[in-house]
Amino acid sequence: MSSDTSDQSTADSLEPAPDASESALSTARRQLDRAVALVDVDPNVVERFTYPDGVHEVTVPIERDDGTVEVFRGYRAQHDSVRGPYKGGIRFHPEVSREECIGLAMWMTWKCAVMDIPFGGAKGGVVVDPKELSDDERERLTRRFTDEIRNVIGPTTDIPAPDMGTDAETMSWMMDAYSMQEAETIPGVVTGKPPVIGGSEGRSEAPGRSVAIVTREVADYYGSPLSESTVAVQGFGSVGANAARLLDDWGATVVAVSDVNGAAYDPGGLDTRAIPSHEEEPEAVTRHADRTIENDELLALDVDVLVPAAVGNAITEANVGDVRADVIVEGANGPVSFGADEILAERDVPVIPDILANAGGVTVSYFEWLQDINRRAWSEERVNEELETEMLSAWDAVRTEYEDRDVSWRDAAYAVALGRLAKAHEARGLWP
Ligand code: NAD
Repeated sequence: MSSDTSDQSTADSLEPAPDASESALSTARRQLDRAVALVDVDPNVVERFTYPDGVHEVTVPIERDDGTVEVFRGYRAQHDSVRGPYKGGIRFHPEVSREECIGLAMWMTWKCAVMDIPFGGAKGGVVVDPKELSDDERERLTRRFTDEIRNVIGPTTDIPAPDMGTDAETMSWMMDAYSMQEAETIPGVVTGKPPVIGGSEGRSEAPGRSVAIVTREVADYYGSPLSESTVAVQGFGSVGANAARLLDDWGATVVAVSDVNGAAYDPGGLDTRAIPSHEEEPEAVTRHADRTIENDELLALDVDVLVPAAVGNAITEANVGDVRADVIVEGANGPVSFGADEILAERDVPVIPDILANAGGVTVSYFEWLQDINRRAWSEERVNEELETEMLSAWDAVRTEYEDRDVSWRDAAYAVALGRLAKAHEARGLWP
């Protein structure tokens, strides 16, 4: 059973949230309000951006291994599709909520528009702790959830991808469940699949690679090239480990990396390949470190670049006063709260926003979708070259707005995104 509802109630109940637990939706709406005050966008179009196109809420019953039936709640929020099919991840996490899905879907809309990718924004998930499910239960949950949202996803309508608690295996099951029901093999319905069934080379590394590319560009921009820069990275997972290792390869001195247990620290520079990523050995950073510090100490290090690449709301009004980095590059989604962002702006600390910095993930997802549609795989070299080109083009567009408008980097990225989206809405008009 799936139902389609507008989000009027959520919009009406929007209150300023406490900083540390500020919802993604609240942050996304406040960022939008801030940006539209600076950018010349038709208010009638802005009104449409404030709401998702739809939120699909489903119940997902599965049989547990002990024979009992348990029902989980799932969502797929679709924010805007004026420039192309909805695109965004699927989370399996106990804190998945309708509001979170809408906020994250909005960020996907801006992210695709900043990158000039012909996709819109979506996000979905199931309220579940996947660690409490067996592999068989996770597979049953994934297949049933896919079936529940089957009539609102598809390679030309809405294309899911992995996110927190889901991975390439989850995407394989989603693709299979969808394809079996449609009676044909449809790899383009999801991205982030294993290459053997139409996934792209370079996809898992891509968000970290884009963070590294943007860090390199911003370091050059501020006259401190990577070879002369120190970097601290919070989170050593898919985004953080790949970003840290590339920056290390490109000459930066990576002085600290962390996971949920704490940070490895060496002021002379860590060997980032000697420390296992979350995928290689979960939560083992401190076990492989000669010297460790606490996570809050990492955020307070006096480094050239700080890359929070672990969780949302890592830097809030409560700890922003401790931050001493010259530049922050957002690796995670929403790691700097709205209040902390304003304080950093007052202190002239540049914050390079998530919708630009980690957009390599959705960009290579777009490459994967192109490969699926054309039934032709690209080499890893080609993927990385095209990603580099797309990132530099987006960086140039954002840098131009930053210089022309004299706004923050986040507002400059919003200006690029909103400009492209508003033009598309104005060209298409309001139906009927
Ligand atoms: P991941 O699960 O691979 O790794 C997360 C890492 O963060 C782990 O090392 C974990 O130990 C650490 N961590 C968790 N809580 C922490 C805390 N409180 N302090 C310090 N470290 C902590 O996750 P990921 O895929 O790298 O995603 C990280 C962030 O990047 C998320 O916000 C995600 O939404 C965002 N993101 C991911 C992708 C992607 O494709 N993987 C793309 C864009 C954005």
